Amino acid sequence: MAKKTDKMSWREAWRLNVRAIRLLNSKNRMMFPYSVIHAISDAVGPYVGIYISARLITELTTLRRWNVLLGWALAAVISTAAFFILGSLMYHFYAAKSATFWQSLTRIEDEKFMSMDYCDVEDQKVRDLSDQIAQNRNWGGWGLDSISWRFENMVNSLFGIIGAVALTIGLFLAKVPDSAGNFTILNHPLFVLLIAALMGFVVWVSPVIGGKTENIRAGFAEKARLGNRIFGHFGYLNSDEHSQVDIRMYHQERISEYYAMKEGAWFTGGVFDRLYWGKMGFLSVLRSLLNSVLRAGIYVFVCLKAWAGAFGIGQVTQYIGALSRFSDSIRNFLDSLFGLRTNAKFLKDTFELLDIPNSMYQGSLTTEKRSDRNYDVEFKHVSFKYPNTDRWVLKDVSVKFKIGTKLAVVGENGSGKSTFIKLLCRLYDPQEGEILLNGVDIRKYNYDDYIGVFSVVFQDFRLISQRLGENVAGCDEYDREKAAKCLEDAGFGERLRELPDGLDTWLYKGFDEDGILVSGGEEQKIAIARALYKNAPFIILDEPTAALDPIAEADIYQKFDEIVGDRTAVYISHRLSSCRFCQEILVFADGRIVQNGSHDRLVETDGLYKKLWYAQAQYYAEEEKNRQMEAERAAAGM
Ligand code: ADP
Repeated sequence: MAKKTDKMSWREAWRLNVRAIRLLNSKNRMMFPYSVIHAISDAVGPYVGIYISARLITELTTLRRWNVLLGWALAAVISTAAFFILGSLMYHFYAAKSATFWQSLTRIEDEKFMSMDYCDVEDQKVRDLSDQIAQNRNWGGWGLDSISWRFENMVNSLFGIIGAVALTIGLFLAKVPDSAGNFTILNHPLFVLLIAALMGFVVWVSPVIGGKTENIRAGFAEKARLGNRIFGHFGYLNSDEHSQVDIRMYHQERISEYYAMKEGAWFTGGVFDRLYWGKMGFLSVLRSLLNSVLRAGIYVFVCLKAWAGAFGIGQVTQYIGALSRFSDSIRNFLDSLFGLRTNAKFLKDTFELLDIPNSMYQGSLTTEKRSDRNYDVEFKHVSFKYPNTDRWVLKDVSVKFKIGTKLAVVGENGSGKSTFIKLLCRLYDPQEGEILLNGVDIRKYNYDDYIGVFSVVFQDFRLISQRLGENVAGCDEYDREKAAKCLEDAGFGERLRELPDGLDTWLYKGFDEDGILVSGGEEQKIAIARALYKNAPFIILDEPTAALDPIAEADIYQKFDEIVGDRTAVYISHRLSSCRFCQEILVFADGRIVQNGSHDRLVETDGLYKKLWYAQAQYYAEEEKNRQMEAERAAAGM
């Protein structure tokens, strides 16, 4: 990330802005054309008003011909109405377009994250960059979001300048009559030069000061980011429902206050408070002062020329009106120009994110669509370490999945079981060895196609705050009977029948206050139902029963054969009792497959499996006892 105080060339700024406009235009066509027309009509309209008013005043203070007055009055009404209608129409179209603008902005980042290599999604540097972009937007309106209004301001002020020049040329051309004596000195070209020099000076200095203040502000981007982060985290921690119990128990609210006050940039006496009182405040005052001096100088010049008889009162109103708009327009124009350059530094962050290359998901082969689910998967000498780490998490793993069988992957926590599945799903690619599907390296397949072969319930799965049925089907139009059957198979049937809105019940309260809250075990059942609904040839459950009570767990085991049918199932667990029903068991230790075989064979063989089995046996005995007691209680109707 470049420092925001680094100088950027105009050329580079231009390139980035053009790229941003092109990008936004491709997402939201016609927004820029409408905004340009709106900006022009907004800029030119007032000059028409100034011009006609000046003509009316001139006529009123000179010949007072009623037909001429009527003509100008009519022109005033018609032109005002025409500009008003044009402006409103353009604004209407523009507003309609900009209503969807925010959505298209979010979509740009969403699409990038969806297509990015998964290892980059997880990369802290990428997360930081994405945070930085959000912070840029939140604290100063920097980045892509502000392009449209910055651009509109520039067009508006440019036409403001053109209009003002057109209406004030007469000021310099009109001559003071010879009868005005000493005042004829005002005809001297030196005055024109003097006014032009004064204007040039203020016009140049004012945005330079403006640019400096923007630069100072931009230079605090890091501090603002930290301040926002602290505020975003600690500012809401005490009201977070998930943290409340612990915070109350250990009085952790004091920590929040401490950090918020100590590091927060936005508090009284904080960085920004001091900044606005100090250099930035001074520069703003200086800038206003210079503008006032320019205005006063011009007013004096106009009044003196009028006093000397160069033009009448009507012209005075025209020149003063146009000139005050001129100085505003030129200041705004240069401000927008400098603003676009400063903003380009923030655009760089956005493009740095959008330009992260996608190197993983480039395969183009389609997977065979087989009704017999005959998909052959094989790991061949696969070794893997996570990006930016040095430790091999999987070492020389070779295994062939037997089609239609149930395979268990067991091992202690941290032995590499989940990583093994992540590689299978191509969330990462191995550094050594290869994974084959029907004999072809999985990197060669089109990713969407390939991932269609697997249904996985990850250990840290997430359900979304949406309707239950939609959660199961992953879309809003779905086969309701099938969704209900999957929920039934996953053990959620009874609860489903109790819900008055059935599949249409909202999960959680994030979207609907009548939504239901479900327990960890119930969430797991819904996640399993979602995996079943996908109906992929492979079903993979990573610690699927961790949150289930013993009865629900037993229920899933009993029905597991029926649930998975002819699919190839992979069952990951550190609880060995969960895996007895699988035909084949792989035992992982420190990233290697150290044993494999059936439960009966492994439990007889000296090795890790047997050791773990007997270490956990005591726990299973208790679990079995509890299960029996629960079953007896259920049978007795208690
Ligand atoms: P298991 O599923 O057997 O509990 P994992 O496959 O989750 O084990 O983890 C294996 C090792 O890889 C652990 O040491 C873990 O800390 C490490 N690990 C897991 N995820 C990441 C990650 N995203 N980045 C770096 N290391 C990771």
